[in-house]
Amino acid sequence: MLQKYADIIIDISHEAIDRAFQYKIPEELINKVETGSYVEVPFGKGNAIRKGYVIGISDVPKWDEDKIKEIKGVPDEGIPIEGKLIRLAAWLKDTYGSTMINALKTVMPVKERVAKKKPQKDLSEFKLDIEKVVSLNSEQTKITDEFTENLIHGVNRVYLLKGVTGSGKTEVYIETIKQTVKQGGQAIMLVPEIALTYQTVSRFKMHFGDRVSVINSQMSKGERYRELMKARNGETDVVIGPRSALFTPFTRLRLIIIDEEHDSAYKSDNSPKYHARDTAIERARLEGASVILGSATPSIESYAMAKLGKYRLWELKERAGGGQLSDVKMIDMREELKLGNRSIISQELYDRMDEAFKNGEQVMLFINRRGYNSCVSCRSCGHAVKCPKCDVALSLHRNGFLMCHYCGHIERQPKKCPECGSNLIGGYGTGTEKVKEAVEKFFPNVKTLIMDRDTTLKKGAHGEIITAFSKKEADCLVGTQMIVKGHDFPNVTVVGIMLADLTLFENDYRAAERTFDLITQAAGRAGRSEKRGCTVIQTYQPEHYAIAAAAEQDYEKFFEMEMSYRQILKYPPVYHMMLVLITSKDEETVNEAAKFTAGLLREVMKDSDTGSVIGPGEAAISKINDVYRRVVYVKNLKYNILVKAKEYTEKKVQEKYPVGDVSLSFDFNPVNMY
Ligand code: ADP
Ligand code: ZN
Ligand code: ZN
Repeated sequence: MLQKYADIIIDISHEAIDRAFQYKIPEELINKVETGSYVEVPFGKGNAIRKGYVIGISDVPKWDEDKIKEIKGVPDEGIPIEGKLIRLAAWLKDTYGSTMINALKTVMPVKERVAKKKPQKDLSEFKLDIEKVVSLNSEQTKITDEFTENLIHGVNRVYLLKGVTGSGKTEVYIETIKQTVKQGGQAIMLVPEIALTYQTVSRFKMHFGDRVSVINSQMSKGERYRELMKARNGETDVVIGPRSALFTPFTRLRLIIIDEEHDSAYKSDNSPKYHARDTAIERARLEGASVILGSATPSIESYAMAKLGKYRLWELKERAGGGQLSDVKMIDMREELKLGNRSIISQELYDRMDEAFKNGEQVMLFINRRGYNSCVSCRSCGHAVKCPKCDVALSLHRNGFLMCHYCGHIERQPKKCPECGSNLIGGYGTGTEKVKEAVEKFFPNVKTLIMDRDTTLKKGAHGEIITAFSKKEADCLVGTQMIVKGHDFPNVTVVGIMLADLTLFENDYRAAERTFDLITQAAGRAGRSEKRGCTVIQTYQPEHYAIAAAAEQDYEKFFEMEMSYRQILKYPPVYHMMLVLITSKDEETVNEAAKFTAGLLREVMKDSDTGSVIGPGEAAISKINDVYRRVVYVKNLKYNILVKAKEYTEKKVQEKYPVGDVSLSFDFNPVNMY
């Protein structure tokens, strides 16, 4: 029989995750040793017996065969949580094509010292409304009863909880976690970072007291490690946190909840580029837990699974705490122009705002652009001022400077067009500042706050703006994506979506889905109390299916249209997609390498009639910080064909190009633009 070798890490909870030692697997243990196994090995000069974890198995000895020691035994004490997390790491490595070390670093809590505690500026000064304890309504009870029944009988499932904003999903999460804890289990709840608000946290604290811990990205590594160890030692039952909290080392994990499951923040942008949703489902499978995915606008992927009966679909159709869904008005901005209104605020929106301000109510204006201000372009020749190092337009700030959001380059705003010399050069477009200016022009006595990438750069700034607005220190909040999530502002009665089409122009296949989600979520911000709210959608494309369906608040209709489009164009979830990003500092090299890569991919895929290769082409941003970027897309019905294609291509490219000249990176079912 072929000799097998195992890579073993002795001290997994210490820093030395990348120090693995190779051991022989004796024949009698061959069936007992696998990735994740906890084994006994002789270690060090005295060959004292130590315990370690297997992180990988191969047929190839790494050094002198005779010097490799043998595994002594596999104790029958069951696999500790670290072993299970190692298995999850192996799955990450295979599924997303990363190295085992990167996968391990993602899942393992790495020991860190707790630094001296600085007083943290957080949202705690934010006054909490008295928390009412609610009793669940019949829709909610039906759901939680089914969950409890399955839990007690050890039936583990993936549930998709589809419920409009304010329909009581969070109450369902709380109840299912309570039942889980009652049965001796532990639970993880993931939320997008931005939705991790003081309100949510305090609701959980009220129910679970000290048994809940919260992880956020502002914590130091030490503080985070301490929370993870509390979970490991069974001192907590519930963890709430962003994506990475998924790897909390609970030993009795029975439930993982992913709130706002459609959010793109659940996709990691570092290797392994995992999706928390799929990874949660895998972790739940390995450990015998259930998963609840919750959203008002489920991802196309999850809803398709629910329709196939693979996920159990739960629906909450009404707002639970009273309050109706807002009244939605769609305004065709082309008509507005015909009527002579050249402003970015339509007559309808103006009237609604006016009424709200007169009644002492608040308004949110949402501009669905990714946080950027307007760019500067020439009206004579169309030239747009770009960053010299990146292929992006510079954005104009009120202080008269132009800034690159990718590399930080700053320059003064030119007075004349650098191309044609015309002085008709200036900032056009509708950034958050422009919207604020328009509001102030029409309503001179109204106080307006801006929340976007620029105003929230400073630590704690996000919370300060939220707090100020909820204390009614301002009447109007203008913002990007950031304002549509999480917070509940009972006094907001009008939501304006300034230009609903903006996200439609982003050049990736999720643009329509993102547009639909954003409009729906924004509309959900209005009228969350007794006062019925109004949402005004301003658009140049009222006939586009994503905008029309969002205006009708008709998810089902949107889903049907979107699925048929994905089917025709071979996009996920119907097909799997792999993106290959090829980068180099040299333009000629990058073009050649991209062509070479696409050629290799076509070669490996030629026997497969279930997919296609597209490209090479320029990335949406073809240069960042003087590094050129090219992309190739590969689509296939079968995921494992893509993984194999990746392995082959990576190897061939590495053989041809010296390290550093060209780099390749892969992203499976990407959610962000490249
Ligand atoms: P979602 O998470 O779906 O946005 P929440 O769980 O936050 O909804 O509920 C929205 C509001 O409705 C909250 O103020 C909550 O306290 C209230 N609520 C939820 N369920 C009930 C219920 N059964 N009875 C009364 N109020 C409820
Ligand atoms: Zn010009
Ligand atoms: Zn730049």
